[in-house]
Amino acid sequence: MTKWVYGFGGGVADGDAAMKNLLGGKGANLAEMSTLGLPVPPGFTLTTEVCTHYTDNAGQFPEILRQDVKTALATLEQQAGKRFGDASNPLLVSVRSGGRASMPGMMDTVLNLGLNPQTVEGLAALSGDRRFAFDSYRRFIQMYSDVVLGVDHELFEEILDEYKDVAGTELDTELTASDWESIAKRYLELVQEELGQPFPSDPVQQLWGAIGAVFDSWMNERAKVYRSLHDIPQSWGTAVNVQAMVFGNMGADSATGVAFTRNPSTGENAYYGEFLINAQGEDVVAGIRTPQTLTRKARTEIGDTQASMEEVFPEIFAQLTGLFDRLETHYRDMQDVEFTVEQSRLWILQTRSGKRTAKAALKIAVEMVDEGLITETDAVLRIEPASLDQLLHPTLAPGHSCPIIVTGLPASPGAATGEVVFDADEAVTRAANGRDVILVRIETSPEDIHGMHAAKGIVTARGGMTSHAAVVARGMGRPCVSGAGELQINYQQKLFTVAGRVVNEGETITVDGATGQVLAGAPPMELPELTGDFAILMRWADAARRMKVRTNAETPQDLQTALDFGAEGIGLCRTEHMFFEESRIAAVREMILASNTKGRVAALERILPMQQGDFAEIFRIIGDLPVTIRLLDPPLHEFLPHTEQDVAAVAKTTGLSVDALMARATMLAESNPMLGHRGCRLGISYPEIYEMQARAIFQAQALIKAETGKMAQVEIMIPLAATARELEILKDKVEAVANDITNQQGFAPQYLFGAMIELPRAALCAGELAEFACFFSFGTNDLTQTTLGLSRDDATSFLGRYISKGVFDKDPFVSIDESGVGQLVTLAAERARAARKDVKLGICGEHGGDPASVHFCEKQGLDYVSCSPFRVPIARLAAAQAAMAKVNSES
Ligand code: PEP
Ligand code: MG
Repeated sequence: MTKWVYGFGGGVADGDAAMKNLLGGKGANLAEMSTLGLPVPPGFTLTTEVCTHYTDNAGQFPEILRQDVKTALATLEQQAGKRFGDASNPLLVSVRSGGRASMPGMMDTVLNLGLNPQTVEGLAALSGDRRFAFDSYRRFIQMYSDVVLGVDHELFEEILDEYKDVAGTELDTELTASDWESIAKRYLELVQEELGQPFPSDPVQQLWGAIGAVFDSWMNERAKVYRSLHDIPQSWGTAVNVQAMVFGNMGADSATGVAFTRNPSTGENAYYGEFLINAQGEDVVAGIRTPQTLTRKARTEIGDTQASMEEVFPEIFAQLTGLFDRLETHYRDMQDVEFTVEQSRLWILQTRSGKRTAKAALKIAVEMVDEGLITETDAVLRIEPASLDQLLHPTLAPGHSCPIIVTGLPASPGAATGEVVFDADEAVTRAANGRDVILVRIETSPEDIHGMHAAKGIVTARGGMTSHAAVVARGMGRPCVSGAGELQINYQQKLFTVAGRVVNEGETITVDGATGQVLAGAPPMELPELTGDFAILMRWADAARRMKVRTNAETPQDLQTALDFGAEGIGLCRTEHMFFEESRIAAVREMILASNTKGRVAALERILPMQQGDFAEIFRIIGDLPVTIRLLDPPLHEFLPHTEQDVAAVAKTTGLSVDALMARATMLAESNPMLGHRGCRLGISYPEIYEMQARAIFQAQALIKAETGKMAQVEIMIPLAATARELEILKDKVEAVANDITNQQGFAPQYLFGAMIELPRAALCAGELAEFACFFSFGTNDLTQTTLGLSRDDATSFLGRYISKGVFDKDPFVSIDESGVGQLVTLAAERARAARKDVKLGICGEHGGDPASVHFCEKQGLDYVSCSPFRVPIARLAAAQAAMAKVNSES
């Protein structure tokens, strides 16, 4: 029989930390902590299977669930020594979501559940604090009405504001017990007015309402957006945790806080956190009040005037940090802990592996290996490859002269420049138009998540290092400055002011998440040093890696960047990109528009020395490493002259009339250029183009041999081949050029001849093609386009919809479609190997830098992946993890 409900508390639990899939991260860790004997308020978890059942059955719970919850509630009452709905000794609970992967702030929560006109009196008597009881009651009515009953929380705020106006008070803290009592009464009337029925007073009815609402919140819009950004499948569902409430707002000896066992921003091995005296947990995360630091050291470092927890509650601090150490040793990872102090008694509400910046992740992993907590393999497996991206991006160059606008907290590292925007939708719109934006908000909430993702950097006026903005920005790798309290933001006028300076929407600012500074203008940036922890971890990764990692590059600058990042050769040098340069395009146009071979040869003769120079430069930089040079593959239309000026320029150099040129351009225009006269089809039609390129490559090879004594490792690659015959023809041509050079110049070029697999037919017939090709590189951009019949250029307009409707899990141009395109790769690899045992296989489509696709390539036993320069470290780490996973699955 399915077990739907798992209890925890009082030193025992039904579950444990290994049951994350069923109990969610929060539920599994609460169970584990209970068994470890940590002070966890008792409670029970409704499993993720309940969520799946609920979503699949139009909001119906499993039949037996009511009985199971009743039993669990009875146990909870016993453990807590209080009773649900008891007027003299009431049990209050929190109802919270908790999925397998953490989704901070995306789903709903209800606190203080169980209060009604009778139990609130009981709470008042029990706590000896009537004000606290009615404050909790009004909070509960507002939260429950908002989350469960759908009454807008603004309406409650209005009542509160009105009340304060009349009473002539400004601060909530000035309101008395009887004020809160009157406000709670008003709130109940509001619900009656809005819904035409009373607020539910039966705690059991309240509980079922909250459980349903929290499960429903798994499917709310912001949770969906978050899941799609973080590749969390919808099918996982969330668990729901019902837990006895403990109160951090029971007076000056109560507090609530969040802490990390190490610094999540830098990785430093020092407790790091914030707390608020006399407050509830949500107050810390919401960033409404500025919290106090945990340690004296942190307080001194930031120059905070408020005392730290170490100073205010020294004994509880000692107990808490003792628990941090225990938790870290037990979980062998840095923990993110939520705690509450209720009248001097410490409670742990949650622990989980803490989110951290890439820099912190590396430092923590390397240090934990040193401390003997984890192995080098664990360390390599722990780093999210895509997160390395954060380290590879620029930081501010020292010595710039841009003025500082304001300084806040260094919430997420890296630096970014962009136009100021004040609204998440505006951020998305501008970013879609190719603009870099910095999102500036008083504080962020889960509703801003799409704008935060679209922005290059984030600034908030309120909130600490664990505020929503800080946590989400770190997770996304966006630089963020939070808590820049001097900013006066005016959303209506779309501007902010600080110390007399006005900054309007659209003005350029720079966020430096490392120092917490916000600067005016665009200071120069520099690339990071890839040494220290990064180098150590990459060394461990490289030792485990089987596949080589090459880069897609054709300019000396890109190549150098890729080599600095550890590229082991060029897997794709797109020669048409070398033609785009201003100085060359005219000669290229002349070649394309030439109506006969003579005209083409004349233009090609002008291009040859330029190509030769390019290749020589690449060979010089790359030394002994291999270079795969792809012969020309331009969709012709990309090169055609578009403006009258361009046509006139070609007319001038060729001596042809503008009319004749226009006529030729019209003739060349294609309806489906992606499936048109491109790739090797061009080489077949106009052999002189590929001949020129082969000559340029070989002559450059000769030049470098003469210069350095070394033979450049050349691999000549044919694009868009579909048939063996195409390769046969082109291989002959290249060979003829090599022979010609040998005969005329006494230099025998050395090269491998191979082809891209970009078409389904090439994949299916790879065995036949292998007769002529001694290597293949999967061009998965075109292979995805042609296998799915999905235009690379046009699909973006509807792909988003396809992904949101679950037609595709991910964009197939970003992460390889394993079951479709992947099958062709598998087949092609098998057939190519059967025909040529030592055939070399690689991938050079965009997928070569995508961690999931790199795992797929490892499974296929490819020899290398090739990706853009900035993704080389990501691919190195992903390839290492894939190799480790393969060893694991085979052993
Ligand atoms: C490919 O098609 O995957 C490829 C690498 O070639 P291009 O992107 O230049 O078409
Ligand atoms: Mg291609």
